[in-house]
Amino acid sequence: MFSFSSIEEYLRDLLHGRTTCKEAVQYFLDNISSAQHLNAFLEVYGAEALQRAAELDQQRQENPNSIGKLHGVVIGLKDVIIYKNHKLSAASKVLEGYEAVYNATAVERLLAEGAIVIGRQNCDEFAMGSSNENSAFGKVLNAKDNTRVPGGSSGGSAVAVQAGLCMVSLGSDTGGSVRQPADFCGIVGLKPSYGRVSRYGLIAYASSFDQIGIFGHNVADAALVLEVVAGEDEFDSTVSNEPVGSYVSNIKSNSDKKYKIACFRQALEHPILDAEIKTSIFNTIEKLKSEGHEIEMVDFDYLDYIVPTYYILTTAEASSNLSRFDGVRYGHRTKEKNVDLSAFYKKSRSEGFGIEVQKRIMLGSFVLSAGYFDAYFTKAQKVRQLLKKATKEIFSQYDLLIMPTVTAPAFRFGEKSEDPIEMYLSDIYTVFANLVGIPAISLPLYQHSNGMPFGLQVLAPMFKEDEMLQFSDKVMEIKAL
Ligand code: GLN
Repeated sequence: MFSFSSIEEYLRDLLHGRTTCKEAVQYFLDNISSAQHLNAFLEVYGAEALQRAAELDQQRQENPNSIGKLHGVVIGLKDVIIYKNHKLSAASKVLEGYEAVYNATAVERLLAEGAIVIGRQNCDEFAMGSSNENSAFGKVLNAKDNTRVPGGSSGGSAVAVQAGLCMVSLGSDTGGSVRQPADFCGIVGLKPSYGRVSRYGLIAYASSFDQIGIFGHNVADAALVLEVVAGEDEFDSTVSNEPVGSYVSNIKSNSDKKYKIACFRQALEHPILDAEIKTSIFNTIEKLKSEGHEIEMVDFDYLDYIVPTYYILTTAEASSNLSRFDGVRYGHRTKEKNVDLSAFYKKSRSEGFGIEVQKRIMLGSFVLSAGYFDAYFTKAQKVRQLLKKATKEIFSQYDLLIMPTVTAPAFRFGEKSEDPIEMYLSDIYTVFANLVGIPAISLPLYQHSNGMPFGLQVLAPMFKEDEMLQFSDKVMEIKAL
């Protein structure tokens, strides 16, 4: 009987003939079919995945010494990452029927290393949301408690890993969409530095924030996928030429290193933070100190500015990015006849986009409009620069930063949808990394008294994924003790 715990073990089992890729794919397909109520997948590529598994099994038998790093690894893709000859909708009616004509660079690299794509995963429409309640194709349920949200926007990708429907998933993280659902589902969620992974083939939400991220059961699996997808790409000039580390093999190196870690006082003392989360993080700090790490509370006075800054800048970028879905160049076209051009655009876009997306396009157009540009957009850009400067300053004295991932564990459906400000404010701890570009990871360390999991967020300086993953692995070991 197949079971999955880590990619490393799976590859070992394959090479020792203890399992096959076909058996793995069949196992996940069975799990998917018995977990349909979770609504994690928008489409499952069953026959295709089995076929590829059979080919990989044959290749491995013929040539066991030259298998790819992700040979037979069963992976799911958030429905914003394109996969050639497969549909993609960004969980929106606007893109219904669209079929990708090329592969995202990340997908191309996964396939080149032998990965098997099992399906595309539900999410908030155009990756806008924190609860997966904004999908045009229905909400995704948290597998731990079906009355609660899985988080968003990459809810389907998180639940697919949580519920054992694939080994790892790719999501996208513009303001926390990988880390927050990972926290709500009790798994690892990794957002790389801005410019670490190519955005070619990722549907744009806010281009100066977006990064492809990874969900996995453990730090090493996420590190391995990162190693494969990261690095320069001629199709995306924002990707850094900073060399890609050997993230996996480096995880266990430097094992005696003691870290100097900062923790924002204002983050842990924020009134919005759940009391149990606060206590748990303080307990972890004590444990880490007793292991010889140095952890200091530092003042960070900008915390309350980060959510407004994030929502001004991302909606501005979104209003521009989504202008292409006008019913002419791309996207849903109204069937209404005899309307003039501007009514045609309005009709097509109002029919195609859901409420949250419409709201953000309007907000973004407002902050970019002539009369308000300086008061909102320019000001927010200045705050972003200040945040970057302050962050650089902190990392000149500390190796890493720790924070909660989210203010509270997974909430119930409908609980926050009436109050967008409350929903947006719950992103306070995750949007920071995207505003300044740094890498961050959510580690599934804790369980709340309400039964739900929650995580610890570890953040590192730009392109210091290596150190972040090494430390994260240590923290997970402490948890296991
Ligand atoms: N919850 C945030 C938002 O709604 C983050 C989304 C994301 O990272 N894609 O914008």
